[in-house]
Amino acid sequence: MKDISCKLLIIGAGPGGYICAIRAGQLNIDTVIVEAAKVGGTCLMVGCIPSKALIHAADEFTKVAHFAAKQTPLGISVSDPAIDFTQTIAWKDGIVSRLNNGVAGLLKKANVKIVTGRAKFRDGKTIEVETLTGQQIIQAENIVIATGSAPVEVPSLPFGGNVISSTEALSLETVPEKLVVVGGGYIGLELGTAYAKLGSKVTVVEAQPKILPQYDAELTRPIAKKLNGLGVTVLTNVKAKGMSAQGDALLIETADGKDDRIAADKVLVTVGRKPVTTGWGLEEIVLDMDGKFVRIDDKCRTSMRGVYAIGDVTGEPMLAHRAMAQGEMVAEIIAGHNRSWDKRAIAAVCFTDPEIVAVGLSPDEAKQAGHEVKIGLFPFAANGRAMTQEGEEGFVRVVAAAGNHLVLGIQAVGTGVSELSAAFALALEMGARLEDIAGTIHAHPTQSEGFQEAALKALGHALHI
Ligand SMILES: Cc1cc2nc3c(=O)[nH]c(=O)nc-3n(C[C@H](O)[C@H](O)[C@H](O)COP(=O)(O)OP(=O)(O)OC[C@H]3O[C@@H](n4cnc5c(N)ncnc54)[C@H](O)[C@@H]3O)c2cc1C
Repeated sequence: MKDISCKLLIIGAGPGGYICAIRAGQLNIDTVIVEAAKVGGTCLMVGCIPSKALIHAADEFTKVAHFAAKQTPLGISVSDPAIDFTQTIAWKDGIVSRLNNGVAGLLKKANVKIVTGRAKFRDGKTIEVETLTGQQIIQAENIVIATGSAPVEVPSLPFGGNVISSTEALSLETVPEKLVVVGGGYIGLELGTAYAKLGSKVTVVEAQPKILPQYDAELTRPIAKKLNGLGVTVLTNVKAKGMSAQGDALLIETADGKDDRIAADKVLVTVGRKPVTTGWGLEEIVLDMDGKFVRIDDKCRTSMRGVYAIGDVTGEPMLAHRAMAQGEMVAEIIAGHNRSWDKRAIAAVCFTDPEIVAVGLSPDEAKQAGHEVKIGLFPFAANGRAMTQEGEEGFVRVVAAAGNHLVLGIQAVGTGVSELSAAFALALEMGARLEDIAGTIHAHPTQSEGFQEAALKALGHALHI
């Protein structure tokens, strides 16, 4: 096979890698991207997109089931709701496939060459790729490592059989009767909630004292309430110890140190994700590390000249939009633009029920950072639009510096609040003060009025409470 040489080679076509490649192509950089699986990466194939499709299907089904049980004040009734789960999964796969083709098309349009196979560094400028038709050698002036992340395995609960990761949970053949979720972080709760709505008896086992430990209790309370309403059992301060010999139960150690078991058809382990730092030849080039992540500077440069790293392999928050922003920036740096990482805000969304969105500092984080703060909280119970969509649970909370009213953080919990994340991030990115948000006319009736009202509340003159 003839060697290839190019100006830019990217390892991994997840959101970080493929965005970097598209932008590089737009900038006329001669670019090759190597992907071991399919373009789109974790996010598109087994992460963000398929999980949101499953969540949507579960929401729709639960709505119909709700009507059938005549548990609605809306006057709607239906009979005999049913779900053909095979079709649900086929629909989800169809969306993934459309997007996968879409990304391949965008790469082609940007004149990016895609090489399918596993890439490995030979040295800082040379990559070898094991392809289906043999070994391909690629020489590049610049190399971007965008190898992403993989699910963390619990040593006593190795993946296989009835012990599954989020990847398998997104492609089950049937809805499990009894599902145990180990790990009450966002991935476990998103999927656990979806399966509870689809009819599974779900138990969440969390080793920490609370679910979603990175968020404060005020934000997570509506989620705990909804899980309870859905019949999900949440066990905190409980350790998963392994599977029963028959593989039909999870063995646990309870909060008071006793051994117990929870019957399970499937045990979904979602205890976190780890950067993919093996299999691509880290040992050949010996990069500086930052704990388990590849160390980067504010231009995503690693400790080796001409080698960059972006996305989940470089650290928290392991989110698709951070990977994409880094990818875009690195392409521009390689094109000679003067760019560096100066983002103030990366919104984090939990697509739980209700959803959580958080940008910037929480009240506690702001205080710990030495700020004197003003906090405004506006409940959706006082928002007309929220009432019209039965979404009165939750609130918007704005945290600002007491002195100059600079907004330091914004959080919300409520139905559909993920769509407020753009307004929140924009406010932080542009250095908004409480008066900027309060003085912006927000359309009526929308949930976003809750954002304006939270700013007004912090200023001491909310209008609707
Ligand atoms: C169930 C689930 C739900 C999620 N939901 C969200 C969400 O709602 N919002 C959000 O922002 N994030 C979400 N995430 C996280 C998100 O998927 C990641 O942050 C994102 O995919 C990281 O992008 P990346 O480009 O760094 O790496 P990845 O998307 O992991 O892509 C890395 C790619 O590199 C390839 N690769 C690795 N090694 C090699 C090699 N040696 N040679 C060639 N190719 C290689 C892999 O095959 C992979 O395709 C979710 C994740 C999961 C698992």
